[in-house]
Amino acid sequence: MAKTAIITGSARGIGAAIALRLAKDGFNIALNDVSEKSFENNDIMEKITALGVRCEKYIADVSSHEACESFVKKVREDFGSIDVLVNNAGITRDGLLLRMAEENYDDVIRINQKSVFNMTKFVGAVMLRQKSGRIVNLASVAGLYGNPGQMNYSASKGAVIAMTKTAAKELGSRGINVNAVAPGFIKTPMTDKLTDEQRDAMLAQIAMKRYGEPEEVASVVAFLCSDDAAYVTGQTIEISGGLSM
Ligand code: NAD
Repeated sequence: MAKTAIITGSARGIGAAIALRLAKDGFNIALNDVSEKSFENNDIMEKITALGVRCEKYIADVSSHEACESFVKKVREDFGSIDVLVNNAGITRDGLLLRMAEENYDDVIRINQKSVFNMTKFVGAVMLRQKSGRIVNLASVAGLYGNPGQMNYSASKGAVIAMTKTAAKELGSRGINVNAVAPGFIKTPMTDKLTDEQRDAMLAQIAMKRYGEPEEVASVVAFLCSDDAAYVTGQTIEISGGLSM
């Protein structure tokens, strides 16, 4: 029987690339995004179903505990099992510390960090019963090293790395692996918002002197979801073209 993967925030960007890659690897796919609008003018479902796997989309705000509970329940009913969870949904609300509005801090923590608690709790319960599962969290180099203008974002991603380790320790004995990836600068709608100055500053620090592609994040996530990574847990793999060494 085909395995099922949930990828949060998968209408576009890195999440869509991960969904497509896991579909190529034979997983049935549960797509998710915050609104129906996210899927407008978007052919991700068609691309996935063309690969011969099952694909459904679920509209849910993953920062809501209640919404995640019903979302996970529905996926379980629709697909029977949940074998992979990729906590990918995330936002930025950048600004220097002294000018950062409180709501921009709270929104980023709620969406990037609390969503990981919500989804891991409800999917973790399903995986515990199955005695197997893979969870991959999208952290960031900002969570490892900090980044000016991202007090909120780096706090949320640093927390995601700590949550990855805690979940790995709690769930490891039941056959559930939990890992994180920490991308650097990847070309997506999220980084389109950066100024040329910010891009140039980032590029100067990258050993490979180029930005990453969403597919290059997806291939590492696919490895962590594969049998080849059966003895890897609690780890954070940096995917940054050598941003920091
Ligand atoms: P993106 O903005 O292109 O896509 C994020 C998706 O998440 C969007 O479709 C958005 O609608 C969705 N989303 C936002 N809030 C949501 C919510 N509450 N519930 C459900 N879905 C929601 O971003 P991306 O660049 O593809 O980033 C994906 C992940 O990778 C994020 O966690 C991001 O922090 C992380 N990341 C990205 C980069 C990069 O350079 N692009 C670097 C490091 C980490």
